[in-house]
Amino acid sequence: AAPLAIVRGAGEAAEEGIVMRTGEAFQTLRQVRTMVLDKTGTLTIGRPMVRGIVAQGIGEDELLTLAAATEHPSEHPLARAVVAEATDRGLAWPQAGEFRSLTGLGVTADVAGRSVLVGRPALLTEYGIDVGPLQEVIDRWTSSGHTAIAIAVDDQAAGVIALGDTLRPEATEVVAALRDAGISPVLLTGDNQRAADFVAAQVGIETVYAEVRPGDKAAIVRELQRDGRRVAMVGDGINDAPALMQADVGIAMGTGADIAMESADVILVRDDLHLLLDAHSISRTSYRKIK
Ligand code: ADP
Ligand code: MG
Repeated sequence: AAPLAIVRGAGEAAEEGIVMRTGEAFQTLRQVRTMVLDKTGTLTIGRPMVRGIVAQGIGEDELLTLAAATEHPSEHPLARAVVAEATDRGLAWPQAGEFRSLTGLGVTADVAGRSVLVGRPALLTEYGIDVGPLQEVIDRWTSSGHTAIAIAVDDQAAGVIALGDTLRPEATEVVAALRDAGISPVLLTGDNQRAADFVAAQVGIETVYAEVRPGDKAAIVRELQRDGRRVAMVGDGINDAPALMQADVGIAMGTGADIAMESADVILVRDDLHLLLDAHSISRTSYRKIK
């Protein structure tokens, strides 16, 4: 049976909006020395919006129509943003065929006989498609913290859509407090290096892993666990699930994907990063009571 102090601590945590799914995680939390934070949906609110569109060789609305048709079946926040922008502009699109989701990379589909690819710019390069003059546009947007997704139509680069998300208002303060508590913050994201560096600088994180494929997030957590360091991972997405399982303590945002919550030891019911500090301090005080 769990010691009484832990039971009380877990009750206190639940009142704050912190669900401890295992007693073990609760005891490990006080030993955590590294906290890995996902960017989109964790440090940011996770509702990206289209901030700019540059079309090449086709019209802007045509580009957005093809992108929306391709993204329509996807659950990804970037996909939702592209579809929302197309809807706002009053555009209509045909149902796409042969939809394929390349997790952490992008999506492809057949739209009215045209093959469309939407995803990270490097994905186009991997398909042998030259991004060409669009590279300059991509660099400009990403260096101001935006996510740039590239679109190819029939194997030709056809444009770029820039998306911006909003930092959680408490992110900077919480990162500083983590450091004061002796916990090193680390940023881990599938997004581009420039956007990741921009957000990291804003919140005061020095260690950044960007352009990480979903399958590699867990490997990075494992690397950080070297020398027996206890590592917590905070995430919200499908792509974070393996890393949440690998971490000594996996922490999921309550607004995140179901699979993220199922893979986590701790769930933050309220969407507030202050709960990370509360969870840590409740774990410490309960432990002190046991001793
Ligand atoms: P994060 O780690 O920030 O939550 P993901 O691993 O989900 O990001 O995605 C990494 C990158 O892959 C995105 O920044 C984007 O460039 C690309 N990507 C993933 N899914 C999509 C999609 N549905 N549409 C366009 N681009 C996508
Ligand atoms: Mg995320």
